[in-house]
Amino acid sequence: MTVTSKLKTKLNMRLNKVNSRRLPIVIFTVYCLVSLLAATWLWQFSYQRLTTSSQQQLELFSSHLDSQLERFAYLPQLLSRQSLMIDALLNPNNSAQRDIINRHLNATNQIIGASDTYLLNINGTTIAASNWSLEASFVGLNFAFRPYFQQAMKGKQGDYFALGSTSGRRGYYYSYPVQYAGEVIGVVVVKMDISSIEKDWSEKSLHFLVTDPHGIAFISTQPAWLFQSLGELSTAVKNAINQERRYLGKNIEALPFEGEFEQNPSLIRVSMSGERPKNYLVLTKEYAKAGWNVRVFVSTNSITYSIVILLVLLTLLFSLLYLVLVLIRQRQNRNDEKQRLQVNAKQELEFQVMQRTSALHAEIDERQKAELALKNTQKELIQAAKLAVLGQLSASISHELNNPLAAIRSYADNALVFLEREKIDKVTGNLQRITHLTERMARISAQLKAFARKSDGVMSIIALQPVLLATFELVKPQLKASQITLDMHLPRNIIQVKAEPIQLEQILVNLLSNAIQAMQDSEVKNINVTLSASAGKAVVEVIDTGPGIAESDIGQLFEPFFTTKETGLGLGLSISQQIINSMQGKLWAQNTADAGAMFSISLPLTSAPEIPLILPQNQELT
Ligand code: ADP
Repeated sequence: MTVTSKLKTKLNMRLNKVNSRRLPIVIFTVYCLVSLLAATWLWQFSYQRLTTSSQQQLELFSSHLDSQLERFAYLPQLLSRQSLMIDALLNPNNSAQRDIINRHLNATNQIIGASDTYLLNINGTTIAASNWSLEASFVGLNFAFRPYFQQAMKGKQGDYFALGSTSGRRGYYYSYPVQYAGEVIGVVVVKMDISSIEKDWSEKSLHFLVTDPHGIAFISTQPAWLFQSLGELSTAVKNAINQERRYLGKNIEALPFEGEFEQNPSLIRVSMSGERPKNYLVLTKEYAKAGWNVRVFVSTNSITYSIVILLVLLTLLFSLLYLVLVLIRQRQNRNDEKQRLQVNAKQELEFQVMQRTSALHAEIDERQKAELALKNTQKELIQAAKLAVLGQLSASISHELNNPLAAIRSYADNALVFLEREKIDKVTGNLQRITHLTERMARISAQLKAFARKSDGVMSIIALQPVLLATFELVKPQLKASQITLDMHLPRNIIQVKAEPIQLEQILVNLLSNAIQAMQDSEVKNINVTLSASAGKAVVEVIDTGPGIAESDIGQLFEPFFTTKETGLGLGLSISQQIINSMQGKLWAQNTADAGAMFSISLPLTSAPEIPLILPQNQELT
């Protein structure tokens, strides 16, 4: 048995145990379990992978943020050392000086790529600015309220994030005090545009968010999230922010985020108005320098999609499995049904065969009985036919016996006379003749006895010539009485057949008797009997010189009880034909060219050793 067929058998056995009603429940339970395990595993695996990749993104963005902010950190300090700045602050009314410093600041601003660069006096009023020539020039504006000014005035480097009061754009401000003779005489400020940080980081499924210490978003690759807080702000916090004018009095609202930001990573659900809620994996990193938090929001859609795909695939797989199992089961059921039908059909057939066999046995018994009865009847018929022939022969036979009897009597009378006259020689002669006559009578009676006795039906290999001669002996008295000559042509070589001699004798006697009767009124009365052998057959022909057979009778000659004679039985030929048939031979009749009838018998020759016969050839026997 191959491995596949073993597996098949095992599967079939399992299937047999799970009946068809339980199969869907079992498959469904396994499907649910497998789906749950696979989905959990996939979720954990994908979550882990997403966390790792998001962490990398967060690190990248943080370093980008850091590098962007750090670009300008030391520029105000450098500028504050320039004598131009000091001169301008020391001579605030020198318009030429102011013009030079404005141009200088503009040129510097352009070179360093900052948003604005400007110089404040100790009151916080802008005395020169890179944007001096523009409509929204800072020149003359007071920024004393800005913490970066206050920090610088304390002799420290200042930095601050806020919305530009003139431009309304998000800016990061770096400030540094301009000192002269140990005194702070002004402040140099470099403002950078924060929007450049977000540029090129915007992605569909990935958002960055930077929040200030109050949790207010001021850098984000998602513009809609800007200037909103992660949670509800207290009134005190709101007031403090308004005082700083960091967000220019904007109403800071809570972002529509659900989830725990305290956890890192955390899962957050974002429901922006007009959009479908989205789920994000959020990773947080502290930007300690400024007390900010940098966050990356990664859509978990990809995980959801892969889980959905996995579930769809599993559903398909299990549906297919279920289908295959159902098909296997159906096929098995069909096979079982087929086998059951085959067994039933076989049983039915066996039963029919048994019935038929017993019927056949009964039929055979019946047939055997019928055959036995038929055989007995045939025997009786043959006997009857034989006795009928004997009856026909009896007249001539009694004549044949009476003649010698009369002769014996006269020989005996004469012998007595010769004895009285003492003519012993003559007495002896008469007695010898009497002996001869009684021998002849004994021979006739022996032949009659032999002919009359019932045939035992046993066939044996016999020579045909002696049978023909015995037949001749039997009909001899009849021939004589009817004055018929009989020519018998017997070959010298013995011709042997397998036959029952008495039955054969009966047939021949019957044929000869018929010929004798047919020639009653014929002028020429001759019977010609010929025995020959050719092509494996022995043929006996009996030809007479009678009137022949009428054309209309030839077809029914061998039918039982067909006779044209007044006292005929019509059994002779039909019985003869049956006997010859049972000896594997043939008996047929035809008319000769000379208008006589010819009856022919053919019998298969046997291959017994040939014994030469001593017989006179073409002997005329009368
Ligand atoms: P049966 O001699 O009692 O009539 P058979 O069966 O011996 O019965 O013969 C049937 C018939 O065949 C005869 O009645 C006769 O008409 C015809 N038949 C038989 N032998 C001859 C013959 N040698 N010549 C002409 N007719 C014959």
